Amino acid sequence: MPVKNAVTEPQKVFIRKLAAERGLDAEVIEASFDDLTKALASDLITWLKAMDVPAAAKPIRATVEPGFYKLDGKFYEVRESKGGRLYAVEIYQTESGKVTSDYAPGIAGRLKPENLLTLDEAKAFGRETGSCCVCRRELTKQDSIDAGIGPVCADKF
Ligand SMILES: [Zn+2]
Repeated sequence: MPVKNAVTEPQKVFIRKLAAERGLDAEVIEASFDDLTKALASDLITWLKAMDVPAAAKPIRATVEPGFYKLDGKFYEVRESKGGRLYAVEIYQTESGKVTSDYAPGIAGRLKPENLLTLDEAKAFGRETGSCCVCRRELTKQDSIDAGIGPVCADKF
């Protein structure tokens, strides 16, 4: 028998999604809808949101490996978070000339294996900016300045 002020359809949709992301039994969730009020559903949503999403169940949209990439003329490093999520930082030169990196939201999911940075592209970045794109350090040895990259970082390609 339906309860008064029963759980709404949009709430159900949201609860199913949250529960699935957290690896909860879908059947148990469906069964709980029978006597769920709108207010209790709201509590359930709060509770589900507070629950940790297991790393394996987390949708990792990035399909690339951690490493260095170039997309639309910009340079990126893809890193893996402690939780196993891949994210990208953009490597760029500031107005003062220093090479640094900042979190680039949404980029990791757009990168493809063919966007992997080549050694030649890494060298071109280093020659243009005077800093290594891998470690962001200023190139100081003449050989490295000419090459656009230091020998240790060049080995990563
Ligand atoms: Zn370096």
